[in-house]
Amino acid sequence: MDDVINLINHLINAKYSIDALESISNQLNISQEQIHRILRADRYKDYFQLIKKNPNQGTDKIALTLDLFCCTHYAQLCKKQSCPFLHLCPYNIRPMHGKCTNKNCPYDHEVLKSAHNKKLINTRGLSFLSDSILLELARASADPNRSFWVCTDNGKKGGCPKKTCCDKLHYCYFSLINACTKTYCPHIINEACIAYFRHKDLSEQDQHDILEAFKKVLKQRKPDFINTVNIPPHPSWALSILSNEKSLPLNDNISESTIINQEPTSLSAIRSILSATAPEFTAKTVYKSDISPPLPDHEQDILLTDTSDESECIEIERYLTQEIGYSIRLSISKTIICEYKNAQYFDNQIEPVYYYCPTENLKDTWKLLRCQNDQNQLIKPLIIYSNIRDAHEATELNIETNQFCLLRLLVFQSNLIQENCLEIYDPTTICFDRMWIYVYSDEGTF
Ligand SMILES: [Zn+2]
Ligand SMILES: [Zn+2]
Ligand SMILES: [Zn+2]
Ligand SMILES: [Zn+2]
Repeated sequence: MDDVINLINHLINAKYSIDALESISNQLNISQEQIHRILRADRYKDYFQLIKKNPNQGTDKIALTLDLFCCTHYAQLCKKQSCPFLHLCPYNIRPMHGKCTNKNCPYDHEVLKSAHNKKLINTRGLSFLSDSILLELARASADPNRSFWVCTDNGKKGGCPKKTCCDKLHYCYFSLINACTKTYCPHIINEACIAYFRHKDLSEQDQHDILEAFKKVLKQRKPDFINTVNIPPHPSWALSILSNEKSLPLNDNISESTIINQEPTSLSAIRSILSATAPEFTAKTVYKSDISPPLPDHEQDILLTDTSDESECIEIERYLTQEIGYSIRLSISKTIICEYKNAQYFDNQIEPVYYYCPTENLKDTWKLLRCQNDQNQLIKPLIIYSNIRDAHEATELNIETNQFCLLRLLVFQSNLIQENCLEIYDPTTICFDRMWIYVYSDEGTF
């Protein structure tokens, strides 16, 4: 078992979480034969991927594929009892934030502090790993550079806004989860894939093995993985070295339910009380018939039309689920049309880039949409995000309808520097084009 832990620890600290077999063997003083034995073991098969060298060049490499994904709704008090993802402070996990320095931070910084996380780690059979390794695994899993992420903007109309600067693989996402239904989908290693492989020093490796690494990571991120995963026992040779794997105690005094009863000292505490008292907030499922149309269909020059194509709706739902990292159900998808903006759009020579706009309140959506037609500079800037996950996290849950509403927009700026977050003052540079209203999926019961 020590060898397995050392191997995980070594790879988690290696560049891109990948290292050459020979280098690992030398540094950890484990024979290559023993490493191969670990890789072959049923128990560890999702943890690592052997990425073989091409026939005439290179050296065999090993990638860490053990994935610990964090819940993106934790900071908004994830209400899902059996949420399959870790509940940890996002400011302490995600690569753009570094480490959380908030002394009064209401969110957990240690993996094994909450009963929720302990249960998850137990169920996944990972309780033989220390808290510090688990935390580093969560950090690596949140970082496309240290893990295997597939870009879901690629393949959409307009393509990936980051183009060649994207740090995720541009390959059919659905094929990697065995769900591609397009008969004409090429599934070939294109220029962008080759550039990605080069960036990660994988040019001389077997491409099939590289894609296997992606499949392993994506499998562990499926919301139902935890319910379907079957954890084989540690092989006997691993147990003979160290055999004190234990289940983590769950009866700690900081259980999730007691937080609700504490004094409302923070916004999150107030929200948790709200969540305990508002029945809509805790409602398990919302059916389409329960949702009254939140908006009129048109106002002034702006028109909203339904996305009528069923398969497009399914694809949007999958796309949002993948981006947000949480199973969602799309209740409404609208195309936003504005003749005034379209005229502007066609005159424009600049290639637009997609951004996403969070909505604080569904009722204010029209106000938000109308700002694109303003003649003057905006007094209060419009805050928009380059990726859906960030925009989603800034979106308020509408407690009355149990829904989130997110807007997509095009940004026309010749000197646009791709930032995670932009402040827009000039309405002529933006054009809203999609509105998505969605709710949580609870254990895939939709
Ligand atoms: Zn959660
Ligand atoms: Zn924090
Ligand atoms: Zn991309
Ligand atoms: Zn495909």
